[in-house]
Amino acid sequence: MGEVQNFFPEAQQDDLPTDLDLEFGGCQTTTAIGHKLYAIGGSDAGSPSCVRVFDKLIGKWITPTVLGANLGPSKGHYAVVLSTERILVLMRDSPPDDFAWFLEVDTPFVKEQRKRLETEVVAWSKGVRGNCPKPIVISGPSGVGKGTLISKLMKEFPSTFGFSVSHTTRSPRVGEKDGVHYHFTERHTMENDIREGKFLESAAVHGNLYGTSIDAVEAVTDAGKRCILDIDVQGAKSVKASSLEAIFIFICPPTFEELEKRLRERGTETEEQIQKRLRNAKAELEQGRSSGVFEHVLVNDDLETCYENLKNILGLNDGFCEVNPPALKNFELPAGYLVLQLEQKVLIYGGTTSLGKPSSVLYILDVSTLKGGAPGRTRGLKLHEVGPLADI
Ligand code: ADP
Ligand code: 5GP
Repeated sequence: MGEVQNFFPEAQQDDLPTDLDLEFGGCQTTTAIGHKLYAIGGSDAGSPSCVRVFDKLIGKWITPTVLGANLGPSKGHYAVVLSTERILVLMRDSPPDDFAWFLEVDTPFVKEQRKRLETEVVAWSKGVRGNCPKPIVISGPSGVGKGTLISKLMKEFPSTFGFSVSHTTRSPRVGEKDGVHYHFTERHTMENDIREGKFLESAAVHGNLYGTSIDAVEAVTDAGKRCILDIDVQGAKSVKASSLEAIFIFICPPTFEELEKRLRERGTETEEQIQKRLRNAKAELEQGRSSGVFEHVLVNDDLETCYENLKNILGLNDGFCEVNPPALKNFELPAGYLVLQLEQKVLIYGGTTSLGKPSSVLYILDVSTLKGGAPGRTRGLKLHEVGPLADI
């Protein structure tokens, strides 16, 4: 039987249901917020992603819908209540870039999903140190040159930018690869995944379903790259309303005739599809300018000029040189550390280093300036190393 840690800032031990251990073998924590008790972990695989909720008002266990990425197996964890909205879950013996997770229990996103799904909902969001640069949302009518501009950016700065690979129900064009240009998907599969909350946004565009999965954005962030999303205006609006703080750029054609010429010369759509895309382009151009979503509007007349303007917006001119994100390699959390919470700071101390020696380093995890959250990463974690303590 693994370690059981109880952390009850608001609840009395008497309030606890006695069948807790019976229901959850293995490592787990039980954390009270208001009238709810969150039991985290205890699955056979030792993964803490398994969550159950005990509602003291009705005296019953509830199995909530658990959104967000599945956590890997863990040798135990510590749960720290940060607010009525979220619990910080610190994994023991995990790699340094995978030790801090947030279980959101009442954030605006969780509230919205609870209403939508009409059931109890919690959501996992992985904690990321530092502030990753904001993702970039690029929108504009079909044929305006979004893909061309994004390809140029990715080619010139391969280790800086990563493309968010969308899902779509449309058929692949010649040369398009599954998993690279899009995840080509059956409609019923995609609709099901949308219902299960796996998408950050989705929209019906030109008669097909398109959407950005949470995994698509997280895969780019996890690779330490800045995410680029090529999505339509409806999708941009949804992203703007989400916790993903992004830069929104709208691309316009110099004239409508030029847009039509580019669409035709690309030669990837039938005449009927071209007509549909051109009809939709009128509304998109109107919305792009007036929706209040886009802070930058670029006209793609001469390609090179537009590309330079795009780089200016992204701060890539003026001696920019590509740098990889700071390595976390030399940071090592000791196995079996202890945790203490002091307002918006979490102290991590003790445990054993990888050399088998007791650790005397004190780590301070500052959670005072968190950004983002489910669906997606929680950024802004600051980890300071203090010590070894004997030297202070
Ligand atoms: P989108 O991704 O917005 O649908 P594409 O990037 O596929 O558009 O561009 C549509 C077509 O227009 C392509 O054939 C591309 O080579 C061409 N194109 C893109 N930008 C320009 C430009 N500034 N001038 C002329 N042709 C362009
Ligand atoms: P295409 O079929 O030409 O690749 O894309 C058609 C339109 O769908 C483009 O305007 C493109 O920006 C948009 N689109 C592509 N992926 C997504 C997505 O994930 N979500 C939304 N909302 N739109 C998308």
